[in-house]
Amino acid sequence: MKKVLMIVLLSSLALTGCNTTIAKLKREEKPSQTAVKSEPEPEPKPVIVTQGIVTWDPITYESKSTTLYIKDLKDTFTEVQYHVWRMADGTGSKKVFSSKDRANNFALPLSLQAFDFKRGEYQIETVGLKEDNQQVPLAKSAITFQQYVPILMYHGIDEYHGHGIKSLFVSPAKFEAQMKYLKDNGYTLLTFENWSDINKVNKPIFITFDDGLKDNINALAIFQKLKDDHFQPTATEYLFPNALNTPGFLTTDDVKMMANSGIFSVQSHTLNHANLPFVPNMEEEIRDSKTRIEEITGKPVISIAYPVGLYDDRVVETTKKYYQFAVTTNKGQFIEKNKPNEYLLMERVGVFDFTTLDQFIASVREKK
Ligand SMILES: [Zn+2]
Repeated sequence: MKKVLMIVLLSSLALTGCNTTIAKLKREEKPSQTAVKSEPEPEPKPVIVTQGIVTWDPITYESKSTTLYIKDLKDTFTEVQYHVWRMADGTGSKKVFSSKDRANNFALPLSLQAFDFKRGEYQIETVGLKEDNQQVPLAKSAITFQQYVPILMYHGIDEYHGHGIKSLFVSPAKFEAQMKYLKDNGYTLLTFENWSDINKVNKPIFITFDDGLKDNINALAIFQKLKDDHFQPTATEYLFPNALNTPGFLTTDDVKMMANSGIFSVQSHTLNHANLPFVPNMEEEIRDSKTRIEEITGKPVISIAYPVGLYDDRVVETTKKYYQFAVTTNKGQFIEKNKPNEYLLMERVGVFDFTTLDQFIASVREKK
């Protein structure tokens, strides 16, 4: 009985609500109905046909300057202004340069010196000045002076307890000091899902952990502690599924929790921590680890860390079938150099128990 009464009450409340809304609408409709006739047809939005194409002299990953041009102009201009700003710094970093070199497609030498040699993506907008000083908006474009990307490699985040290789255990206190340095110095922590952002942000950096050790939960806790509106830590866990739920390693529940934390991207380190060039089931190790991890996390696995940093041409060609990115233990910061398979042979920067904070700072320093 009580239930029926409740339903009746709720329905009548809902009906009352509806009626009021309808009544309000009706009242409001009236004035607009009378106005309809006198209202003009909505005018089609003017289509702005910008003229010209912004081009530049070819640049390499080492370039710090180039010359900009604007070609294919329809009208005659006496001067072209180039408005240039760095994406990561926003329009506040905008600088305006001018060229009157009409004979040479309004050539404009551009040096990163004007922007304190900061690398990354730059937006370019151009404005043409006619003889009567009329300003005409011209083409827009973007040019990228690639940034180097340090991909840090960690293993354990714990005090050393006598098991495994001592140098691979970074204490939680040390790890926190390193992450705090990144936070206080404007680094942007990324994962491979956001690769397309590397030149749009300040100081891009990747934090990776190999092996799926249980103590990596300590890293998650430190990231959560440091996280705020300005610092949004993200990191990559490379694990091998056949170790999950065994002593010293993460459990399946840990992995799900990490993958759902908004901080960790869980990626592959093969099925069994295989020495890929030497195992008979190399392709299975590469392929099935991906599907197993995807089944656990429900998220795409797009990168792999070669166990012990071991690979050969055959391993790289097989990896290419299943992954977009593969990291090695070769030392260095990554930058695209147009070398074959470079995204499957990415360098990393190892961080060890003996790494001092000064050494850490030097290894992540922005290359200009
Ligand atoms: Zn490993």
